[in-house]
Amino acid sequence: MEFIIIYKLPFHKTIYMSFDSLGLSDPLLKAIAKKGYTTPSPIQEKCIPIVLQGKDVLASAQTGTGKTAGFTLPLLQILAGAQTPNKRPIRALIITPTRELAAQILENVREYSIFLKIKSTVIFGGVKQSPQVNTLRNGVDILIATPGRLLDLQDQGLLSLRDVEILVLDEADRMLDMGFLRDIKKVLTLVPAKRQTLLFSATFSKDIKKLAGGFLTNPVLVEATPENTTAEKVNQKIYHVDKVKKRAIIIQMIKEGDWQQTLVFTRTKHGANKLCEKMQKSGITAAAIHGNKTQGARTKALAGFKAGEIRVLVATDIAARGIDIPLLPHVVNFELPNVPEDYVHRIGRTGRAGANGIAISLVSHDEAVYLRDIEKLLKQKIPTGIIEGFEQGEAPAEDPNAKRPQNHSPRKPRNKNGGGNWNRNKNSGNRSNSNSNRRRSD
Ligand code: AMP
Repeated sequence: MEFIIIYKLPFHKTIYMSFDSLGLSDPLLKAIAKKGYTTPSPIQEKCIPIVLQGKDVLASAQTGTGKTAGFTLPLLQILAGAQTPNKRPIRALIITPTRELAAQILENVREYSIFLKIKSTVIFGGVKQSPQVNTLRNGVDILIATPGRLLDLQDQGLLSLRDVEILVLDEADRMLDMGFLRDIKKVLTLVPAKRQTLLFSATFSKDIKKLAGGFLTNPVLVEATPENTTAEKVNQKIYHVDKVKKRAIIIQMIKEGDWQQTLVFTRTKHGANKLCEKMQKSGITAAAIHGNKTQGARTKALAGFKAGEIRVLVATDIAARGIDIPLLPHVVNFELPNVPEDYVHRIGRTGRAGANGIAISLVSHDEAVYLRDIEKLLKQKIPTGIIEGFEQGEAPAEDPNAKRPQNHSPRKPRNKNGGGNWNRNKNSGNRSNSNSNRRRSD
């Protein structure tokens, strides 16, 4: 594959251009102003003019960089510029890995197209297909879809992709992680060969480059963030604590800090439910989202959280992927992820689009190996702090030479009352294979 231009963008820029200079039309500028955006983010600054020129784009951008507007705004402008008044075939297809992300992109598309005569809709699994089919029958210009439901409806002859002019693959790395490669390849056989294609991915792995090589034409490569770096604006902190005290600690933090909107990550669905129950019992409104929850429950929880009715959203990694809550002030890793890249995605929920955020991780003895892997990936030590009254106790005797944990069941702490030095085991060497035993929980 030949890449014709490479833009490497510094993550944090001090001088921005204005939206007016990007070549966007008045209805879009009005919608942007209505959203309250004053300056384009780096990815928008580069992507918008390139997409408007009709070029293919391969963009490395994490959630939180403003990538959705980066592809949606020019896409809307292209579609609005050449509309056929009576016919509404699907002219733009946006594929994303999760239902939440799909719903969120639709919300954005509708906000940005408020002053245009463009129709858009979303389809994803886990809900009845008939309302989706009815909307499709009435004609839409833009379809946002998760791969499974898209192919399902296509197989049933309920939609056609033969008029697609612009194809967007969003969070392509996560789609590959989730096993959607075959589905994506199938979609590519259903859209016209002559089209504009935009691929967004948090990282540019070999697999992504291979995928891109197969179906992008002379793409412009845009990198908004260096691979595997954390957002500069996120204030990260580690607290070394005893595992059994984590629930009490997080409840105290939220209450004493009067935190009104906190996203908490657990490794397991069961852990998310348990923590959520504990929070509710202590008087904090909380909801859990994970793969065992129905789509309705997930949507309701997310809406309640966004509206400020629910103070704490407890989520597993896959369920939380792509969730967009503007200016999310606090992210807490109740447990560290066992896949280090997930740490980067998790803390990307805060400090979004220029806002400051705090990402706190509660780390128990058995997670020392995960922390080391994360710091290795980030190539930096995360600052540590102490929570008074909750300092970490002694590590269990077997800990220094322990293998990577095989399951997540709590270990009995030796010193229930704490009082030990939180820093004691910071550098204790747990030698084990960093890449083994990696599994995410949805
Ligand atoms: P995204 O990376 O597309 O998920 O966007 C992250 C968040 O940034 C969303 O809440 C957007 O509404 C917001 N956002 C996108 N572009 C801008 C901008 N130019 N100025 C301020 N906020 C923005």
